[in-house]
Amino acid sequence: MADALKNFVAGQWKCSRSGQTFQDENPVRRGSSLGAFQASTPDDIDEAIGAAEAAFRAWRRTSVPERQQHIAEFLRLLKASREELARIVTLENGKTIRESRAEVDSALVEGGYHLTQVSAFYGHTGPGAFRDLTTWVQYEPVGVVGVISPWNFPMNVMCRKTLPALLTGNTVVFKPASFTPWSGVFMAGLFERAGLPAGVFNCVTGLGSSIGNHIVEHPGVRALSFTGSTEVGKKIQAKAAANLTRTQLELGGKNALIVMEDADLSAALEAAVTAGFANAGQWCTSTSRILLQRGIAGSFLEQLTARCGRMAVGDGVLETTDMGPVAGPQQYQDICAAIGRAQADGARMVAGGGAGLPPDGYFIRPTVFVGVRPEMALFRDEIFGPVLAVSEFDSLDEALALANDSIYGLSSAIYTTDIGAAKRYIDGIEAGLAHVNVHTGYKEPSMPFGGVKQSGAGLPENSESGLEFFVDRKAVYLRG
Ligand code: NAD
Repeated sequence: MADALKNFVAGQWKCSRSGQTFQDENPVRRGSSLGAFQASTPDDIDEAIGAAEAAFRAWRRTSVPERQQHIAEFLRLLKASREELARIVTLENGKTIRESRAEVDSALVEGGYHLTQVSAFYGHTGPGAFRDLTTWVQYEPVGVVGVISPWNFPMNVMCRKTLPALLTGNTVVFKPASFTPWSGVFMAGLFERAGLPAGVFNCVTGLGSSIGNHIVEHPGVRALSFTGSTEVGKKIQAKAAANLTRTQLELGGKNALIVMEDADLSAALEAAVTAGFANAGQWCTSTSRILLQRGIAGSFLEQLTARCGRMAVGDGVLETTDMGPVAGPQQYQDICAAIGRAQADGARMVAGGGAGLPPDGYFIRPTVFVGVRPEMALFRDEIFGPVLAVSEFDSLDEALALANDSIYGLSSAIYTTDIGAAKRYIDGIEAGLAHVNVHTGYKEPSMPFGGVKQSGAGLPENSESGLEFFVDRKAVYLRG
């Protein structure tokens, strides 16, 4: 990539007014550069919001089938670009090529769901309470929507927000995470090729603290769909309150996997490895705490550590790699610091360490700590890396108390063959997603995707609420 890639604003590819660019690093090689991207400023955001406001006047009047045609074309192009885009995601994020393909596939499945679902979403009419009145709730687009996404699923998360926003007649200003601008700009190219009118979708790259912030504070933005950390989510909620901007916040987690003595242990082990180490543990619904009933803890841990030792950690572009590097230098430092703190706090590392890792990139081995107690940071803080914290329990009540002892409430899972225990877990767990004999990362587009407690606020993504978030409800009373 010789020239810096540009922002996509008002249907045109533009340089930032700052004249500055920033580099996109491949986490496999420290100091490498995949290319340069626009280091945009609040002025660039103002221009994008202005373009989105102007485009909204006509886009909101388009029919649903017309919007569906554009999004169907976008999804066709996305499918055709699967391999190219997956490679970009792997290069800039580090996840394995198989994980990147799965990310594109997930976006296609979710996009297909929203594309169909939107037809059924409209047309809520009904007889009025008084005979000479007809009443209905008219769904209207809210206006310009700000979409701010994280680097861990750089294309799937933006699609899960952007497609329902566009299908319901809104226009979008999208800011990709600064670690992963390439996939964001690539998606802008697909929207352009899908024939979206100028200004309906805009993409501006740069730092969250400057331009992300400006999107949040801008009175022209009527709704904000954000996925990222709880820390930034809280700041966004506070700032958005100034204009009463509607927010959808999908935030952090500290998801627990409970394994009961009666469970199918090989299935539970598979769940721990899949949801613990896929995307190098940088997954909001990844398993980060494992709660083992005492009787099976020893044998489960023996098998888990053996599996960790066999995992091939390396460059994600190789089909044989099981786990790629973590996404960047800050992430690497934070995870190493969390590992050091866990050791200092008295937790025992039974898998992990630096031996045999490729020297150049941000690689961390699948890591497992045992003897983790609730007062330890390892039990409480989201690490967002391939680090599992294992604790033991005697009864299901104790397991639930441990699982719920967290500010977070995103995902969870239990492995058991006892239907009564499964029901007690479903009723007792404080989480947006409850899985029984299914790993913590599993989701389907027709089901709401969002957390409780400090894992999220506003309507969840996907399901009907994924569309509802993007509409105002007008109560219509018609006589005549
Ligand atoms: P982050 O909060 O650091 O950044 C997310 C996005 O916000 C980025 O685009 C960033 O540039 C932008 N940003 C940063 N500061 C901002 C500000 N002051 N104003 C506006 N925008 C700002 O998160 P991250 O490190 O990119 O992603 C990891 C986090 O995301 C983890 O906590 C993870 O659990 C969470 N996550 C949650 C879900 C979910 O659905 N609940 C999904 C994926 C990731």
